[in-house]
Amino acid sequence: MARKSATLVGPDYGFGAYIHWPYCTRICPYCDFNVYAAKTRDTAPLLEAMGASIVSSRRRFSDHPPLDTVFFGGGTPSLLAASEIEGLLGALAGSFGLADDCEITLEANPNDIDALKARDWFAAGINRVSIGVQSLDDRALAFLGRDHDGAAARRATELALGVFRSVSIDMIYARPDQTSAAWEAELKAALALGAQHLSLYELTIEAATPFGKRAARGELAPLPDDAQAGLYELTDEMTRAAGLPAYEISNHAQDASHRSVHNQIYWNSGDWLAIGPGAHGRMSAGGQRFATLEPDKPIHFVKGGGMETTELTREETAHELLAMGLRPVDGIERGRIEDQFGGRLDDERLSHLVEGGWLDLSGGWLSLTARGRLLADRVTLEIAGALG
Ligand code: SF4
Repeated sequence: MARKSATLVGPDYGFGAYIHWPYCTRICPYCDFNVYAAKTRDTAPLLEAMGASIVSSRRRFSDHPPLDTVFFGGGTPSLLAASEIEGLLGALAGSFGLADDCEITLEANPNDIDALKARDWFAAGINRVSIGVQSLDDRALAFLGRDHDGAAARRATELALGVFRSVSIDMIYARPDQTSAAWEAELKAALALGAQHLSLYELTIEAATPFGKRAARGELAPLPDDAQAGLYELTDEMTRAAGLPAYEISNHAQDASHRSVHNQIYWNSGDWLAIGPGAHGRMSAGGQRFATLEPDKPIHFVKGGGMETTELTREETAHELLAMGLRPVDGIERGRIEDQFGGRLDDERLSHLVEGGWLDLSGGWLSLTARGRLLADRVTLEIAGALG
């Protein structure tokens, strides 16, 4: 996937498709994604509109190579039938083509996984699943508003491991009042499930969500920053000891073959075609880079508002390259950022960050230290300031 090239961003750094399925059986109180309650709906018009968006995107971006990855995310794309997944993959294969070793991921909720469905998804072309376990503690799952329990999450993971090449599980930690002993026990149990990839996210309380409103009323207090930092460090130690070290701020894998190829396209400023309500993409053509945006609401998407494309400036692209490129543990080549920006990073400002223990500057690469990853957003802003 990592083709060497004279370009600084774009499909030479990987090309993926993100398909956004916007429905969920119920809406979790912490979620700020573009999602809608599934209810009983006729989903055929949405699937048809997605197919049409794929075809018209191909006309717009006619030079792109076959897709390195396809990621079905949402929302809850595991609500889709295998035949519907097959239909969307067929549209992508027919328009853009799929690389021989294309990574094809389905995000799945534990309650949607059973032996028959897993086999059908596999037969449709899915080769990796990312399971929304979130917690193995039933009280925590109830607090998070999830509709599965720890036993269902365990069963789903075991079953998926028997079918797919690679299985990832998502967990949410740093919940209000969570102690380090409680997280240690939970993470130990999660590691024992044997998934080859873990995505471990700290709970963020967004203002527009039910959790955000409860926090504003003083009914829910986020975990203090220093306690969160302690849990992050504990996570780092435990995953490393278990043979799944972090390869990105929140992502851990057994080895390079189980890293998410799709997410690496985001972090490496490759191109991704984003299809479905509210989906954001980045596509390059004719030496220019575009932000793409699909109509937000399913009804507008179905009515055919069309994908908006906005050209990004050289500087905007340089800032994205930096912010995304600092997320992986390996970091990003300094020269690539400077060439994209058209100027040098300020040495004095970088030295200040190196001396503070936030940044590593070895071999012409910029990477966050373990300390820097704890405050990644702030350190990234500081480095962005060094771009002038
Ligand atoms: S299932 Fe996932 S996407 Fe759907 S509401 Fe819950 S957190 Fe959001």
